[in-house]
Amino acid sequence: MTEELNPFEIAQRQLDEAAEFLGLEPGMHAFLREPMRELHVTLPVRMDDGSLQVFKGFRVQYNDARGPAKGGLRFHPNETIDTVRALAAWMTWKTAVVDIPLGGGKGGVVCNPKEMSQRELERLSRAYIRQVGRIIGPKSDVPAPDVYTNPQIMAWMMDEYSALQGHSEPGVITGKPLALGGSAGRMDATARGGMYCLREAGKVLGMDLKGATAAIQGYGNAGYYAQLLGEELLGLNVVCVSDSQGGIFCEDGLECQDVKGHKDETGTCVGLPDMETLSNEELLELDVDVLVPAALENVITAENAGRVKAKIVVELANGPTTPEADEILRKNGVYVIPDFLANAGGVVVSYFEGVQNAYNYYWDLEQVYEGLDSKMTAAFHAVHQMAQAKKVHNRLAAYLVAVVRVAGAVKLRGWV
Ligand code: NAD
Repeated sequence: MTEELNPFEIAQRQLDEAAEFLGLEPGMHAFLREPMRELHVTLPVRMDDGSLQVFKGFRVQYNDARGPAKGGLRFHPNETIDTVRALAAWMTWKTAVVDIPLGGGKGGVVCNPKEMSQRELERLSRAYIRQVGRIIGPKSDVPAPDVYTNPQIMAWMMDEYSALQGHSEPGVITGKPLALGGSAGRMDATARGGMYCLREAGKVLGMDLKGATAAIQGYGNAGYYAQLLGEELLGLNVVCVSDSQGGIFCEDGLECQDVKGHKDETGTCVGLPDMETLSNEELLELDVDVLVPAALENVITAENAGRVKAKIVVELANGPTTPEADEILRKNGVYVIPDFLANAGGVVVSYFEGVQNAYNYYWDLEQVYEGLDSKMTAAFHAVHQMAQAKKVHNRLAAYLVAVVRVAGAVKLRGWV
């Protein structure tokens, strides 16, 4: 039987498992299985050649019981409403597990930004806000960058929203450039948060991470900073990294700046001189201490999970492990730091950005790092302790922590 890989159905199945374990009241369970609100928009955009192209866009506010919806915005040709729903659900659990006063949301536009000019992207970004602006805002729903969106796009969107409001409103969106109210420390926040979790995992497992070998799949924002900070903060020996072209391996460890330099120059890490090459599938099965999936969904599946040899998996990517694979990893004693805990550093610093915008007072890097460390460390131990107490795998434990918090807020509001 092939595994069901519809991301929203996976997200619902993960919640179902937690709901059953918690004995969640059926009405509450049914409510938490669905997004509270969705807006589907149609965006006419004048292209540079004078033609008109019509794009489809979405914004999903999955649950805002704990605070304004929060979540990124993707520009991708294969965007689907189900992917956006799943990611919005995961944002709900993510903000709850790190205990920040926000809910979960996500947005997307079906488009191929690689084939669009900057002017076209600007017109599309502004068109999106003219439609979605009616349901977002610092007190209701705060988007951020995600796949193929960036600080410049956030700047245009913030400007368009501010024009609609008649005054500057930087808190409507996070991941902005520093000059427009972005936060120090946002660039490496996701990987940094993941490395803080890994540090704590090393402590509870009694594992010395200094010199521990690591393989990282994906060499974008999450993967590159995972190597840099894994080495800097924990002394990891990163022996293998990859991108969409394949992987490179060196037993003695890869020099981070060499890999980054080669990728910046050629567009891929493959081809760095004197390195062995290997496939993305082989990377996942390497005999390393730490495996960091930092690229795509559904890469560790029922088919290959039994061959994963790493002792710890740090899921910086969203949804890299299928539910069937989870069970296999658990049986084999692999310690998984699940995605919505491991990669929550980005949203924690986004939350700090919103706080700084509200106060119109900006923090230095040290303050951001300190706040991030404190949030991630507390979240890691809440999940670890839940897993120990209930004798469940870490993903289920993370759900138990998050769902109890969200359901509690829903109950207190009297919604269910
Ligand atoms: P990115 O676009 O910066 O980098 C993605 C990397 O993955 C690129 O190096 C690309 O070459 C590589 N890749 C693409 N297809 C691949 C394949 N088939 N095999 C191996 N590598 C492949 O994206 P990112 O921001 O680093 O995000 C990566 C993952 O982390 C995504 O799942 C994203 O949702 C998740 N994430 C990122 C953040 C963040 O703040 N950047 C926050 C939370 C979660």
